[in-house]
Amino acid sequence: MKLPMAMKGIVATAGLLLTSTVFAASPADKYPESVLYSKPVQVADNVWSSIGATQYYSYENGGHNNNLSFVIGKDAVLVVNGGSSYLLAKALHEEIRKVTNLPVKYVVDENGQSHAILGNGYWKAQGATIIAHEEALEEIHEDGLSGLENLQDILKERSQGTELIEVDKTFEDRMVLDLGEQKVELIRFGPAHSPGDISVYVPGSEVVIAGDMAFQQRLLPIFPNTDTAEWLETWNNEFAPFAKDKVIIPGHGEATDFATVDKWTRGYLEYLRAKVAVLLEEGGTLEDAYAIDQTPYQHLETFEQLAAKNAGRVFEAMEFE
Ligand SMILES: [Zn+2]
Repeated sequence: MKLPMAMKGIVATAGLLLTSTVFAASPADKYPESVLYSKPVQVADNVWSSIGATQYYSYENGGHNNNLSFVIGKDAVLVVNGGSSYLLAKALHEEIRKVTNLPVKYVVDENGQSHAILGNGYWKAQGATIIAHEEALEEIHEDGLSGLENLQDILKERSQGTELIEVDKTFEDRMVLDLGEQKVELIRFGPAHSPGDISVYVPGSEVVIAGDMAFQQRLLPIFPNTDTAEWLETWNNEFAPFAKDKVIIPGHGEATDFATVDKWTRGYLEYLRAKVAVLLEEGGTLEDAYAIDQTPYQHLETFEQLAAKNAGRVFEAMEFE
Protein backbone atom coordinates (compact mmCIF):
# COMPACT_ATOMS: atom_id res chain seq x y z
CA MET A 1 0.00 0.00 0.00
CA LYS A 2 1.61 3.29 0.92
CA LEU A 3 5.28 2.58 1.37
CA PRO A 4 5.83 0.45 -1.70
CA MET A 5 3.78 2.81 -3.87
CA ALA A 6 5.96 5.68 -2.73
CA MET A 7 9.00 3.57 -3.57
CA LYS A 8 7.70 2.82 -7.05
CA GLY A 9 7.37 6.57 -7.59
CA ILE A 10 11.03 7.12 -6.85
CA VAL A 11 12.15 4.16 -8.93
CA ALA A 12 10.12 5.39 -11.90
CA THR A 13 11.68 8.85 -11.86
CA ALA A 14 15.23 7.84 -11.15
CA GLY A 15 15.42 4.81 -13.42
CA LEU A 16 16.88 1.37 -13.04
CA LEU A 17 20.14 2.41 -11.48
CA LEU A 18 18.43 3.57 -8.30
CA THR A 19 16.37 0.37 -8.14
CA SER A 20 19.52 -1.67 -7.74
CA THR A 21 21.04 0.73 -5.19
CA VAL A 22 17.88 0.63 -3.09
CA PHE A 23 17.89 -3.14 -2.86
CA ALA A 24 21.66 -3.63 -2.65
CA ALA A 25 21.57 -1.51 0.52
CA SER A 26 19.42 -4.12 2.35
CA PRO A 27 21.40 -5.74 5.14
CA ALA A 28 21.56 -9.52 5.29
CA ASP A 29 18.73 -11.46 6.91
CA LYS A 30 19.57 -11.96 10.58
CA TYR A 31 17.63 -15.21 10.82
CA PRO A 32 18.02 -17.18 7.56
CA GLU A 33 16.41 -20.35 8.97
CA SER A 34 13.10 -18.47 9.36
CA VAL A 35 10.93 -16.19 7.23
CA LEU A 36 11.35 -13.74 10.11
CA TYR A 37 14.06 -11.13 9.63
CA SER A 38 15.30 -11.65 13.20
CA LYS A 39 14.74 -14.06 16.07
CA PRO A 40 12.46 -12.72 18.83
CA VAL A 41 14.28 -11.23 21.81
CA GLN A 42 12.92 -10.92 25.33
CA VAL A 43 12.48 -7.24 26.08
CA ALA A 44 11.10 -7.56 29.64
CA ASP A 45 9.18 -10.05 31.81
CA ASN A 46 6.47 -11.58 29.58
CA VAL A 47 7.32 -9.34 26.62
CA TRP A 48 9.11 -10.42 23.44
CA SER A 49 9.68 -8.82 20.08
CA SER A 50 10.91 -9.92 16.70
CA ILE A 51 12.49 -6.78 15.31
CA GLY A 52 11.85 -6.23 11.60
CA ALA A 53 14.23 -4.93 8.95
CA THR A 54 14.36 -1.11 8.93
CA GLN A 55 13.78 -1.18 5.16
CA TYR A 56 10.97 -1.32 2.65
CA TYR A 57 9.12 -4.54 1.98
CA SER A 58 11.27 -6.91 -0.06
CA TYR A 59 11.28 -10.52 -1.16
CA GLU A 60 14.45 -10.97 0.92
CA ASN A 61 12.98 -9.66 4.19
CA GLY A 62 9.76 -11.59 3.56
CA GLY A 63 7.75 -8.46 4.32
CA HIS A 64 9.11 -8.47 7.88
CA ASN A 65 9.93 -4.76 8.07
CA ASN A 66 8.10 -3.84 11.28
CA ASN A 67 8.19 -5.21 14.80
CA LEU A 68 6.12 -8.26 15.66
CA SER A 69 5.76 -8.54 19.44
CA PHE A 70 4.04 -10.85 21.90
CA VAL A 71 2.97 -10.75 25.54
CA ILE A 72 2.57 -13.91 27.64
CA GLY A 73 0.12 -14.24 30.54
CA LYS A 74 -0.77 -17.21 32.73
CA ASP A 75 -3.53 -18.42 30.39
CA ALA A 76 -2.93 -16.89 26.99
CA VAL A 77 -0.69 -14.97 24.61
CA LEU A 78 -1.36 -11.65 22.86
CA VAL A 79 0.42 -10.84 19.59
CA VAL A 80 0.97 -7.29 18.38
CA ASN A 81 0.70 -7.15 14.58
CA GLY A 82 -0.59 -9.88 12.34
CA GLY A 83 2.48 -9.40 10.10
CA SER A 84 2.75 -8.96 6.33
CA SER A 85 1.86 -12.52 5.34
CA TYR A 86 0.46 -15.87 6.36
CA LEU A 87 3.92 -17.44 6.38
CA LEU A 88 5.39 -14.65 8.50
CA ALA A 89 2.62 -15.07 11.08
CA LYS A 90 3.22 -18.82 11.08
CA ALA A 91 6.96 -18.30 11.56
CA LEU A 92 6.28 -16.04 14.55
CA HIS A 93 3.96 -18.67 15.99
CA GLU A 94 6.73 -21.26 15.73
CA GLU A 95 8.93 -18.96 17.82
CA ILE A 96 6.16 -18.38 20.38
CA ARG A 97 5.81 -22.14 20.74
CA LYS A 98 9.49 -22.38 21.70
CA VAL A 99 8.71 -20.17 24.71
CA THR A 100 5.19 -21.26 25.70
CA ASN A 101 2.44 -23.76 24.82
CA LEU A 102 -0.32 -21.28 25.68
CA PRO A 103 -2.78 -20.34 22.93
CA VAL A 104 -2.62 -17.03 21.08
CA LYS A 105 -5.93 -15.52 22.13
CA TYR A 106 -5.63 -11.97 20.78
CA VAL A 107 -3.91 -10.32 17.83
CA VAL A 108 -3.78 -6.53 17.98
CA ASP A 109 -2.94 -4.51 14.86
CA GLU A 110 -0.94 -1.30 15.44
CA ASN A 111 -2.84 0.36 12.53
CA GLY A 112 -4.37 -0.61 9.17
CA GLN A 113 -1.13 -0.99 7.21
CA SER A 114 -0.22 -4.13 5.30
CA HIS A 115 2.50 -5.25 7.71
CA ALA A 116 0.08 -4.94 10.61
CA ILE A 117 -2.87 -6.81 9.08
CA LEU A 118 -2.12 -9.19 6.21
CA GLY A 119 -1.05 -12.10 8.43
CA ASN A 120 -4.32 -11.89 10.41
CA GLY A 121 -5.82 -14.79 8.43
CA TYR A 122 -3.26 -17.19 9.86
CA TRP A 123 -4.04 -16.07 13.41
CA LYS A 124 -7.79 -16.22 12.93
CA ALA A 125 -7.41 -19.83 11.78
CA GLN A 126 -5.67 -20.53 15.13
CA GLY A 127 -8.73 -19.18 16.94
CA ALA A 128 -7.37 -15.73 17.81
CA THR A 129 -9.58 -12.64 18.07
CA ILE A 130 -8.31 -9.84 15.82
CA ILE A 131 -8.50 -6.32 17.29
CA ALA A 132 -7.76 -2.91 15.76
CA HIS A 133 -8.75 0.72 16.14
CA GLU A 134 -11.96 1.72 14.36
CA GLU A 135 -10.04 4.08 12.02
CA ALA A 136 -7.69 1.25 11.08
CA LEU A 137 -10.72 -0.76 9.99
CA GLU A 138 -11.73 2.06 7.64
CA GLU A 139 -8.25 2.04 6.12
CA ILE A 140 -8.36 -1.74 5.71
CA HIS A 141 -11.65 -1.44 3.83
CA GLU A 142 -10.21 1.30 1.63
CA ASP A 143 -6.66 0.12 0.93
CA GLY A 144 -6.42 -3.44 2.21
CA LEU A 145 -6.91 -5.11 -1.15
CA SER A 146 -4.39 -2.98 -3.04
CA GLY A 147 -1.95 -3.58 -0.19
CA LEU A 148 -2.44 -7.31 -0.55
CA GLU A 149 -1.87 -7.23 -4.32
CA ASN A 150 1.21 -5.12 -3.84
CA LEU A 151 2.73 -7.53 -1.34
CA GLN A 152 1.84 -10.52 -3.52
CA ASP A 153 3.90 -8.86 -6.28
CA ILE A 154 6.86 -8.35 -3.97
CA LEU A 155 6.78 -11.56 -1.92
CA LYS A 156 5.84 -13.88 -4.81
CA GLU A 157 5.51 -17.47 -3.47
CA ARG A 158 6.34 -16.17 0.01
CA SER A 159 2.87 -14.55 0.06
CA GLN A 160 1.23 -17.98 -0.22
CA GLY A 161 -1.88 -18.36 1.96
CA THR A 162 -2.15 -14.63 2.64
CA GLU A 163 -5.64 -13.16 2.42
CA LEU A 164 -7.52 -10.13 3.62
CA ILE A 165 -9.90 -10.92 6.48
CA GLU A 166 -12.27 -8.98 8.69
CA VAL A 167 -11.17 -7.57 12.03
CA ASP A 168 -13.24 -9.07 14.88
CA LYS A 169 -13.31 -6.14 17.31
CA THR A 170 -12.56 -2.46 17.21
CA PHE A 171 -12.24 0.16 19.94
CA GLU A 172 -12.12 3.93 20.20
CA ASP A 173 -9.99 5.04 23.18
CA ARG A 174 -8.95 2.16 25.40
CA MET A 175 -9.43 -1.56 25.77
CA VAL A 176 -8.12 -3.77 28.58
CA LEU A 177 -7.46 -7.46 27.96
CA ASP A 178 -6.65 -10.11 30.56
CA LEU A 179 -4.14 -12.84 29.68
CA GLY A 180 -4.32 -14.35 33.19
CA GLU A 181 -2.34 -12.50 35.86
CA GLN A 182 -1.17 -10.18 33.12
CA LYS A 183 -3.35 -7.36 31.92
CA VAL A 184 -2.63 -5.58 28.67
CA GLU A 185 -3.96 -2.16 27.80
CA LEU A 186 -4.63 -1.01 24.22
CA ILE A 187 -4.40 2.76 24.01
CA ARG A 188 -5.32 5.26 21.34
CA PHE A 189 -3.17 8.27 22.26
CA GLY A 190 -4.38 10.29 19.26
CA PRO A 191 -3.56 10.93 15.60
CA ALA A 192 0.03 10.00 14.66
CA HIS A 193 1.57 8.63 11.47
CA SER A 194 -1.41 6.83 9.91
CA PRO A 195 -5.12 6.15 10.53
CA GLY A 196 -5.85 4.07 13.60
CA ASP A 197 -2.39 4.11 15.19
CA ILE A 198 -2.52 2.53 18.63
CA SER A 199 -0.07 1.49 21.34
CA VAL A 200 -0.06 -1.47 23.70
CA TYR A 201 0.93 -1.00 27.34
CA VAL A 202 2.09 -3.94 29.44
CA PRO A 203 1.63 -3.05 33.14
CA GLY A 204 4.12 -4.60 35.53
CA SER A 205 6.78 -4.96 32.86
CA GLU A 206 6.34 -1.24 32.14
CA VAL A 207 6.75 -1.70 28.42
CA VAL A 208 4.95 0.38 25.81
CA ILE A 209 4.71 -1.33 22.44
CA ALA A 210 4.31 2.03 20.77
CA GLY A 211 3.52 1.01 17.19
CA ASP A 212 4.02 3.66 14.53
CA MET A 213 3.69 6.44 17.08
CA ALA A 214 7.46 6.04 17.59
CA PHE A 215 10.44 5.37 15.33
CA GLN A 216 14.18 4.94 15.60
CA GLN A 217 16.98 3.65 13.33
CA ARG A 218 15.01 4.44 10.19
CA LEU A 219 13.52 7.71 8.97
CA LEU A 220 9.82 8.00 9.68
CA PRO A 221 7.50 8.35 6.68
CA ILE A 222 5.11 11.26 6.26
CA PHE A 223 2.14 10.15 4.16
CA PRO A 224 -0.34 12.40 2.31
CA ASN A 225 -2.77 11.78 5.20
CA THR A 226 -0.21 12.29 8.00
CA ASP A 227 -0.86 15.47 9.97
CA THR A 228 2.51 16.29 11.56
CA ALA A 229 1.03 19.07 13.72
CA GLU A 230 -1.45 16.62 15.23
CA TRP A 231 1.22 13.93 15.60
CA LEU A 232 3.33 16.37 17.66
CA GLU A 233 0.32 17.35 19.73
CA THR A 234 -0.43 13.69 20.47
CA TRP A 235 3.23 13.14 21.29
CA ASN A 236 3.65 16.09 23.65
CA ASN A 237 0.28 15.97 25.41
CA GLU A 238 -0.50 12.26 25.57
CA PHE A 239 2.30 9.90 24.58
CA ALA A 240 5.30 11.56 26.24
CA PRO A 241 3.74 11.99 29.72
CA PHE A 242 2.66 8.34 29.66
CA ALA A 243 5.73 6.76 28.08
CA LYS A 244 8.66 8.77 29.29
CA ASP A 245 9.73 6.44 32.10
CA LYS A 246 8.95 3.19 30.25
CA VAL A 247 10.71 0.78 27.91
CA ILE A 248 9.63 1.46 24.33
CA ILE A 249 9.22 -1.03 21.52
CA PRO A 250 8.82 1.31 18.55
CA GLY A 251 6.96 0.39 15.37
CA HIS A 252 10.34 0.25 13.64
CA GLY A 253 13.80 -0.23 15.17
CA GLU A 254 14.98 -2.02 18.30
CA ALA A 255 13.49 -1.69 21.78
CA THR A 256 14.92 1.35 23.53
CA ASP A 257 14.19 4.14 26.01
CA PHE A 258 11.87 7.11 25.59
CA ALA A 259 14.68 9.64 25.04
CA THR A 260 15.82 7.75 21.94
CA VAL A 261 12.44 7.58 20.19
CA ASP A 262 11.79 11.16 21.28
CA LYS A 263 14.94 12.24 19.47
CA TRP A 264 14.16 10.45 16.19
CA THR A 265 10.40 11.05 16.15
CA ARG A 266 9.48 14.35 17.84
CA GLY A 267 12.97 15.68 17.13
CA TYR A 268 12.73 14.97 13.42
CA LEU A 269 9.17 16.29 13.06
CA GLU A 270 10.10 19.54 14.81
CA TYR A 271 13.32 19.90 12.81
CA LEU A 272 11.55 19.50 9.49
CA ARG A 273 8.63 21.76 10.40
CA ALA A 274 11.01 24.51 11.58
CA LYS A 275 12.93 24.35 8.28
CA VAL A 276 9.69 24.48 6.27
CA ALA A 277 8.39 27.40 8.36
CA VAL A 278 11.52 29.42 7.48
CA LEU A 279 11.12 28.52 3.83
CA LEU A 280 7.48 29.63 3.78
CA GLU A 281 8.42 32.92 5.40
CA GLU A 282 11.00 33.52 2.71
CA GLY A 283 8.49 32.74 -0.03
CA GLY A 284 10.22 29.46 -0.97
CA THR A 285 8.69 26.88 -3.31
CA LEU A 286 7.95 23.17 -3.19
CA GLU A 287 11.18 22.61 -5.15
CA ASP A 288 13.08 24.38 -2.37
CA ALA A 289 11.37 22.14 0.18
CA TYR A 290 12.65 19.02 -1.57
CA ALA A 291 16.16 20.44 -1.21
CA ILE A 292 15.92 21.19 2.56
CA ASP A 293 19.06 20.13 4.39
CA GLN A 294 18.27 17.01 6.43
CA THR A 295 21.85 15.81 6.96
CA PRO A 296 21.40 15.19 10.73
CA TYR A 297 19.10 12.31 9.69
CA GLN A 298 21.05 11.10 6.67
CA HIS A 299 22.45 8.01 8.41
CA LEU A 300 18.97 6.63 9.11
CA GLU A 301 17.67 3.76 6.99
CA THR A 302 15.10 4.72 4.29
CA PHE A 303 16.50 8.29 4.27
CA GLU A 304 17.15 8.19 0.51
CA GLN A 305 13.60 7.09 -0.27
CA LEU A 306 11.79 9.38 2.15
CA ALA A 307 13.61 12.60 3.10
CA ALA A 308 12.69 14.79 0.09
CA LYS A 309 9.18 13.38 -0.08
CA ASN A 310 8.64 14.06 3.65
CA ALA A 311 9.77 17.67 3.23
CA GLY A 312 7.43 18.16 0.27
CA ARG A 313 4.46 16.81 2.20
CA VAL A 314 5.15 18.99 5.24
CA PHE A 315 5.51 22.02 2.94
CA GLU A 316 2.19 21.35 1.22
CA ALA A 317 0.45 20.90 4.57
CA MET A 318 2.00 23.91 6.32
CA GLU A 319 1.02 26.24 3.48
CA PHE A 320 -2.53 25.87 4.81
CA GLU A 321 -1.92 25.73 8.58
ZN1 LIG B 1 4.86 0.71 10.33
